[in-house]
Amino acid sequence: MKITETHMIGGHLSTSVGIENTPLTAKKFGFRAYQVFSKNQMQWKAKDIPADVPGKFENNRRDNSIASVMVHASYLLNTASSDNELRDKVREGFRMEIERCDILKAELLTFHPGSFKEATLKIGIENVTSMLNDVMSAKQKVNVLIENSAGQGNSVGKTFGDIAEIIDGVQYKDKIGVCLDTCHAWASGYDFTNEKGYEAMMDEIRSTIGIGKIMGFHLNDSKKGLGEHADRHEQIGLGKIGAEGFSLLINDPAFYHLPMIMETPLGEDGYMDDLAALEKIL
Ligand SMILES: [Zn+2]
Ligand SMILES: [Zn+2]
Repeated sequence: MKITETHMIGGHLSTSVGIENTPLTAKKFGFRAYQVFSKNQMQWKAKDIPADVPGKFENNRRDNSIASVMVHASYLLNTASSDNELRDKVREGFRMEIERCDILKAELLTFHPGSFKEATLKIGIENVTSMLNDVMSAKQKVNVLIENSAGQGNSVGKTFGDIAEIIDGVQYKDKIGVCLDTCHAWASGYDFTNEKGYEAMMDEIRSTIGIGKIMGFHLNDSKKGLGEHADRHEQIGLGKIGAEGFSLLINDPAFYHLPMIMETPLGEDGYMDDLAALEKIL
């Protein structure tokens, strides 16, 4: 059985073919869900989406059976920052990301909460929350997903409790969710590779954000060890998590319907091997 038939598994895809043509790339891998950037992720500005692109994108999605598209927000959007000048740019940039998702009818927008730098975690959490309340609106269609962090530096989001505090303060709760990155969870100390650890992580999720708030995954192995707080992705099965380490998550029926997006270092050159590694543990 192909894992792309049983699971909503996909990968981050290049938009060099034109974002409207990414469903065709996805089809080559059998993906029914995938991730893209809607603009250059290292720049603040973006060209407007040409008028003919959303229609072509929608047609190509339908013709290639793409159920869900996740957009990854720019890495520049440090929502946890206390720097007011930066926050003005982040606010504008984040609104643009939401608007582009809605133009493209992308279902999910994932972002990294960022770093509170020399402030405190408490202030960082407040900063993320207030930024979300500034940029989200009643009319937006896209769900915004907070990605858990590896706990590197002074990053916000290394525990589900921290993420729950953000969600608690968000006004439009029906539009906010969480993207669980397996490499980041491992790096921040969650050992989900054995039954006891997996259950402990799920219990913590249940008692903080709630299972229903998990709306997607980033499925990455890790070059670094458990709890080392290093955000270093590896191909599935070649890292410290190992293919078997994904077994409990991949075989948990609670998540079969959710996008699981690989952001492994080889990208499109490695996804066939990543999929083969996962199929062995089904
Ligand atoms: Zn990720
Ligand atoms: Zn990462």
